[in-house]
Amino acid sequence: KVRVRFAPSPTGGLHLGGVRTVLYNYLFARHHGGDFVLRIEDTDQSRFVPGAEEYIMQCLDWCGLHPDESPVKPGAYGPYRQSERKALYRQYAEQLVAQGNAYYAFDTPQELEQMREKHKTEHHQAQYDSRTRGFMRNSLTLEATEVTSLLQAGTPHVIRIKMPEHESLVFTDMIRGEVHFDTSVVDDKVLLKADGMPTYHLAVVVDDYLMEITHAFRGEEWLPSAPVHLLLWQYLGWSGKMPQWAHLPLILKPDGNGKLSKRDGDRLGFPVFAMDWTDPRTQEQTVGFKERGFLPEAFVNMLAMLGWNSGMEQELFSMDELIQHFSIGRVHKGGAKFDYEKAKWFNNQYIQKTDNDVLAGLVLPFLEGKLEEADLPRIAAAMGMVKDRMHLLTEFWPQAAYLFEAPAETDIASVQAKWKPEHKVFFEAFASRIDAASEWTEESAEQLFNELVTASGLKKGEVMLPLRIMLVGGKFGPAVFAIAAFIGKEETAARIRSVIS
Ligand code: GLU
Repeated sequence: KVRVRFAPSPTGGLHLGGVRTVLYNYLFARHHGGDFVLRIEDTDQSRFVPGAEEYIMQCLDWCGLHPDESPVKPGAYGPYRQSERKALYRQYAEQLVAQGNAYYAFDTPQELEQMREKHKTEHHQAQYDSRTRGFMRNSLTLEATEVTSLLQAGTPHVIRIKMPEHESLVFTDMIRGEVHFDTSVVDDKVLLKADGMPTYHLAVVVDDYLMEITHAFRGEEWLPSAPVHLLLWQYLGWSGKMPQWAHLPLILKPDGNGKLSKRDGDRLGFPVFAMDWTDPRTQEQTVGFKERGFLPEAFVNMLAMLGWNSGMEQELFSMDELIQHFSIGRVHKGGAKFDYEKAKWFNNQYIQKTDNDVLAGLVLPFLEGKLEEADLPRIAAAMGMVKDRMHLLTEFWPQAAYLFEAPAETDIASVQAKWKPEHKVFFEAFASRIDAASEWTEESAEQLFNELVTASGLKKGEVMLPLRIMLVGGKFGPAVFAIAAFIGKEETAARIRSVIS
């Protein structure tokens, strides 16, 4: 059975690229009728950020990417937080030591620092590897009895993998095909830390094995770690069970020049996080797509297309359609440029497709202090008039404010050059007719207006635009008589009078 996992470290807000990784995992799992597991990789306590795990789960929830197994929905493979699995990892590290594939290292931070200083050359940043490990205090260089007594004395130590020299490794990535590595360029990574916690490298392999993960999608930035993981799978005797990996290409800056970062978003004015995130340590706030007024369906659709194509003309896909069409063979090898205008285009398409009642509920949180729950029916009615112009839910108010309150400023000056005394007479008469009207609908308003235009001998065009400006404040908005009907006859007459008097 297909089993995939999203394995974030709870270190901060969830970036576009992170959500896309979840999404591809999810689509793949659902496409194959498999399981989608959320595993929290929180073994690096120095990078742990309180609240980040909850935030990640809320993001997945908002996107509609619901895990089958997670810390809050445990399945048969728990626990789903690595910190709660701590006791599990040491035995594997010890097994590797016993086999000669790993070793104890007792070096202090100062000793490591000295080593880096002493062995670095012009071309080579010294690492703990086959060139240097022979000079260090570890179970490869020390006498066995000394190692035993150091261990018995509880001397702080780590366990490191012993990377072979000049071995070439290869694996087949689902996106890139064959990938080759030379083991000499990789250092002897720590597997188990002095506090007994595993590092990412050991934990990811052990957990992918124990959780019977069959396919692993992760960001391209993890490719350099793949040789360590490959060797661990081999050394632990599990090669046949190794998941098939897919290293997803990066999401690039809009100009294609390098990886998209939070700073690009700040600079160019678009979000790069799924939801608002406040770093509890710095109080630094980052806006998210959700709070910028994106619909989750639009966000997900846009992300799916950022690095994958369906091979069809169609660009709009529901989650079910994405699941149906998703194939790893159509994930691009190269990075995908992020395009915020295109993201907004997707959002506008989904806004247009969504029911007005639903949209009203979604924009309400953005209307604090302006409109309230009791206004929902009117918001829904207004929505129908303005939603085709909205790219973000936050644009409801700028597009629709005049439907709820008289415009603060009326740009009548823009038509005043052609304004004649007859126009004022016309609008005075129109306002009186409105007062007297017994019916007030879009049709009746238009009829009243047309009758008066004919009687006055003016051209309709001369007075239509001024009417719009009186009601809306500017030269925009939907059909003018629909607006008049929406705001009601008293308000229509009042707005006309406030301009001409
Ligand atoms: N914990 C790693 C991360 O934060 C997971 C990488 C992987 O999927 O192997 O992205």
